[in-house]
Amino acid sequence: MNITAYSTNKQETRCPARTAAGEMPIPVFYSPAMVANSESFSPSAGKPALAVESWQFLGLPLEFHTPQPLSAEQFGVAHDPDFVTDVLSCRSANGFGNKSPAVAAALPWTNGAMLSAAREALKNKIGAIAPCSGFHHAGYDFAGGYCTFNGLMVTAAALLAEGKASKVGILDFDQHWGNGTQDIIDRLNLGKEVMHYSPKSEFSRPARAEAFLAAIPKILERFADCDLMLYQAGADPHIDDPLGGWLSTDQLYRRDRVVFEGLSRLDIPVAWNLAGGYQFDEAGGIRPVLDIHDNTLVAFVEAYGHASLPGEYAQRREAA
Ligand SMILES: [Zn+2]
Repeated sequence: MNITAYSTNKQETRCPARTAAGEMPIPVFYSPAMVANSESFSPSAGKPALAVESWQFLGLPLEFHTPQPLSAEQFGVAHDPDFVTDVLSCRSANGFGNKSPAVAAALPWTNGAMLSAAREALKNKIGAIAPCSGFHHAGYDFAGGYCTFNGLMVTAAALLAEGKASKVGILDFDQHWGNGTQDIIDRLNLGKEVMHYSPKSEFSRPARAEAFLAAIPKILERFADCDLMLYQAGADPHIDDPLGGWLSTDQLYRRDRVVFEGLSRLDIPVAWNLAGGYQFDEAGGIRPVLDIHDNTLVAFVEAYGHASLPGEYAQRREAA
């Protein structure tokens, strides 16, 4: 297993929280309050618990933090305040197309996890994880596509307003275009302060997969002046995904590895989340999606060299 640690000395000074073994605990912002039954085809609302459970089997030094839930006022930095109130009080439909009180109750926590992870990434200067989904189709005053509020833009707008960042990057490698993200950027006139990139049709087919992977370092250069990256590591571009269809499991792993290595080189801290993924296994579970999210965590760890991978997992990866 070839673990690449790009700037060991730099990380030494940055990570006072390293353990005695030299490993940096990996900050994960998770609370059971993030989980809801959305009564929908999309597993997104239930995914935080499943992803976290799966990651715990990898034997990595995860360090769990409780996210700070958002207030209605905090959502208002990126959304129409009336839209926020109507959704939180179940008068308007959420991104799953229903008025589920359970989904409404989880929203401050999922979106709060993204903001909390971003704050931690700015602090530790490497990165942090928000194991949640359902952001990028939510616009200034609309929900849709399993997305209710846009945790990416709430996070970016909050950090910009507080002066914690002067420019925030949003790298969206979900299968689908982040129309809600772009809507908020346009409505709030944040085009200079937020760099948003999500591939449209320039890649999106198996024959273009390797070209896509080769293009990532160049794509990352567009973010060179950002203080922070918010990365949507979507699992739905997988070739077997019913809503996706062009990258293999290994190519998705390589995508994430190249992203994290590039951000490390550019010295841009990253807060990443799960985004879409809609495959089911024969038992009705989402094991194929969880395998992809496991690989994202492994790629994150390998890129920064924060921790050694358990031998069994490393061998599986080398055999793959
Ligand atoms: Zn998607």
